[in-house]
Amino acid sequence: MTQTENGQRADGAAAQAGTAAQPGAAAQPGAAVDAARAAAQWWDAQDFRGRRGWLRDLARVLARGADELAGVIARETGKPDDDALLEVMLAVEHLDWASRNARRVLRRRSVPSGVVGIDQAASVGYRPYGVVGVIGPWNYPLYTPMGSIAYALAAGNAVVFKPSELTPGVGEWLARAWQSLAAPQPVLQVVTGDGAVGAALCRAGVDKVAFTGSTATAKRVMATCAESLTPLIAECGGKDAMLVAADADLAAAAGYAVFGGLGNAGQTCAGVERIYVAEEVFDAFTAAVTDRLRALRAGVDYGPMTMPAQTDIVRAQIADALRGGGRALVGGEDSVRGRTIEPVVLTGVAPDSTAVTDETFGPVLVIEPVADLDEGVRRADASRYGLGASVFTADTDAGKAAAERLDCGVVTVNSVLGFAGVPALPFGGTGDSGFGRIHGDDGLREFATVKSMTVTRFATPLKLMTMRRRRRDMRIARLMLRVRHGR
Ligand code: NDP
Repeated sequence: MTQTENGQRADGAAAQAGTAAQPGAAAQPGAAVDAARAAAQWWDAQDFRGRRGWLRDLARVLARGADELAGVIARETGKPDDDALLEVMLAVEHLDWASRNARRVLRRRSVPSGVVGIDQAASVGYRPYGVVGVIGPWNYPLYTPMGSIAYALAAGNAVVFKPSELTPGVGEWLARAWQSLAAPQPVLQVVTGDGAVGAALCRAGVDKVAFTGSTATAKRVMATCAESLTPLIAECGGKDAMLVAADADLAAAAGYAVFGGLGNAGQTCAGVERIYVAEEVFDAFTAAVTDRLRALRAGVDYGPMTMPAQTDIVRAQIADALRGGGRALVGGEDSVRGRTIEPVVLTGVAPDSTAVTDETFGPVLVIEPVADLDEGVRRADASRYGLGASVFTADTDAGKAAAERLDCGVVTVNSVLGFAGVPALPFGGTGDSGFGRIHGDDGLREFATVKSMTVTRFATPLKLMTMRRRRRDMRIARLMLRVRHGR
């Protein structure tokens, strides 16, 4: 890719990431945000079509370097190569979708001006914030922050991204990918370091922060953003429930339970952690899950825990569940072996046990019998989290009705995590799972401020909005009020 001085694009293949001369990460959040400020103006001036071109090239660099990038993800997180490649694929799909749809969603549009404002042409426009600070977690170190990065860029913002300190290489790879396009401005920059660097980024004059991580950290980030009234989007943890009705396809539901609960070693924000099963099929369902778990190889089908400290949390939750009267149907406390945790299935767990109340983020399922879907919904909603949920039943209408009632941001019927592969679907949660949305039309709007405009199109004989109202004007106004709303 070559580039002329004013930023016009010229023909040529995009350079491969990883070969750029510049280092991947900028030195300090302050310096990066200062540089991003100027870059944001240039980026805004590129307009939707120009940005679409740059972002398409960025997607091309990611797609061509997918194996290398997946290798970095796998090395830094410990997840299997296939999972890492799938993550790259999903991230590229979002980048492509955001850049293709930004104009449709964010261009200025006319709205009806109504009776009182009949003399005005009314329209709504969306302006980029300017510089968006993106703070990401380690569990899906590319896919998750890309849900903010792609949408913020497509909406016309410059981005400064701080990856988790456990996955700096992924961030640096991304920064080099942008640099390889030889754009005249650093529209996408990366700063690496620990939580203090994240806090410094929040204080560095960014116009919005997009945070993904734990609820506890989100509260600290929100307090920091409050100092300067910087708006925040918070994508936090979950304690997602799966509901299984008596008429569900138990084999399929068990397969999804294992994938949703143990994929990525359970380190998935919207992973399955609690399962509420109709009591008449409880035994058959748990037997189907147990069968599948026997075939699963910890350390092969899913990796070790990325963060060593997380193993202590998982062990403590299992112990708490068993101490409070819970039973282990599969595994137990000794399933935690170093950083690798063998599958664990618990039942009869007290509702106030941390295994039920807190995010586990490990390969542990709590399965409980319930009377029906209604009780399932009640038990699912008895959580301070509200990220995702899933419903399994042969009666799709009943499944959809239960899905509507669940207090959460994303929900699936007869599958798990189906929303992750649909860029048009907004993603986010309620309660302790955070607020704001990434992905989809709403995800694009999240990274823009709304600007309403009216333009006078003719001089109305009715002078209501002036100091020169006449008695006749008010007589007509009164009549209009009665005729339109008083009958
Ligand atoms: P953390 O909350 O520990 O960290 C998230 C990010 O915040 C990291 O980059 C971290 O830096 C940074 N950070 C830490 N302290 C501060 C601070 N005071 N100010 C600003 N930034 C700070 O989360 P994890 O990385 O452990 O990720 C796991 C969590 O993320 C789980 O709860 C999971 O459910 C959630 N998650 C939510 C998703 C969603 O979309 N809803 C998707 C994926 C994960 P550092 O790592 O260097 O400490």
